[in-house]
Amino acid sequence: NNVLLKKRGFFDHQNNGSRVNPKQLIGDAIRHRIETIDPEYCEPGEEDAFFVADLGEVYRQHLRWKLNLPRVKPFYAVKANPDPKVLELLAAMGTGFDCASKNEIDLMRGMGVDPQRIIYAQPCKTMSYIRHARQQGVKQMTFDNDDELRKIARLYPDAELFLRIMTDDSASLCRLSLKFGAPLDTCASLIQTARELGLNLVGVSFHVGSGASDPMAFLKSVQDAHYVFKLAENYGYDMKTLDVGGGFCGESFEPMAKVLREALDEYFPTTDIIAEPGRYYVSSAFTIACNIIARRTVEPSPSTTIDDERSYMLYINDGAYGNFSSIIFDHQHPVAKILTVGDRFIYGTTQADESVPGSPDAVDYSIWGPSCDGLDRVMERQKFDAILETGDWLYFEDMGAYTRCSATKFNGFRDDHDVLYVCSEPGARAMLRI
Ligand code: PLP
Repeated sequence: NNVLLKKRGFFDHQNNGSRVNPKQLIGDAIRHRIETIDPEYCEPGEEDAFFVADLGEVYRQHLRWKLNLPRVKPFYAVKANPDPKVLELLAAMGTGFDCASKNEIDLMRGMGVDPQRIIYAQPCKTMSYIRHARQQGVKQMTFDNDDELRKIARLYPDAELFLRIMTDDSASLCRLSLKFGAPLDTCASLIQTARELGLNLVGVSFHVGSGASDPMAFLKSVQDAHYVFKLAENYGYDMKTLDVGGGFCGESFEPMAKVLREALDEYFPTTDIIAEPGRYYVSSAFTIACNIIARRTVEPSPSTTIDDERSYMLYINDGAYGNFSSIIFDHQHPVAKILTVGDRFIYGTTQADESVPGSPDAVDYSIWGPSCDGLDRVMERQKFDAILETGDWLYFEDMGAYTRCSATKFNGFRDDHDVLYVCSEPGARAMLRI
């Protein structure tokens, strides 16, 4: 059994089938991996950064979703993290999938996911991909402009269409309405064109922006969607489904879900509701461990005050061109914690965290990626109560969304860092047949 687990990429934590402390499980997996690595003597790349993914966390997020948004069927946005085991678990839990391209459609179809559980949620699609979606039987797709409607009429006339409307995404991390979404005053003419072309308009979709922070953006979008549903009735459409998109974050989920739930009950009491959450499902499930590959001492300049202490620049083996691409593309601020200092493994302890303000032992660090580019900075400033050296390890939590999927090979580094899997929930283990 242990050998089988290993073959499937799982770290064996020898549990007896009960719920395991997630932190302890992740810590054990990391320790097991790094205690065999001696950066002084190891093979090139043995000390490369690696992820630990707790699939139990994905499972818990799903339960949390069902508790807070029982009417809303999630179609996981594959782009956030197309990790095969995450997808396997979500497929087993019965979610649908939001695919943005041919490859994502093929990935899900290759896993045996029924085409009815897929929405091709990209309002401006490649023509050959539309034909491919048709061949794969993926009928549901979004559009937001007249040209796209005419393209679809030619290439896939019996597709099931969602009109994506523009939202106020000003309070989100990644604004999408700059690029997508039909302004409300264009919807009547789009619906009329769909009618003239004999197309099958089945619903409305929106996206309040990735990393949304204002629950009211959901309320406003639901109200706008309601207006478009009524508009469509004037053209003889009886739309069946509302797609409320993504934008959900773990930290603000409950208040956001409450506003959305109440808005849906008021404006769409009987309509089918789907969503396209990405970040929500995966962000907190992935932790990354990085090795300190170099250190530079920065002496205080003679002209500064005596309070200025020596500080250090730490260079780690992953950065903004790799899995920390989220800093640039996703406006994230990952927080370093200490995994090891010398021989001491301090993952999960208070010592691993940033030093408490005013601590006399505090040492100042900046943290940089491994490439030759000055833009490649992971943290501008972090204080720890420890002197870190080359060969020590750091870790970063909440690294599951928009990280590995947008990593590059720039400067010859890897874009396919290992993922060690653990599973802290018995329910998820059963679904994955672990
Ligand atoms: N749906 C669409 C069409 C998107 O463009 C995105 C993200 O860009 C998502 C869903 C997922 O968004 P999030 O990860 O914020 O939930």
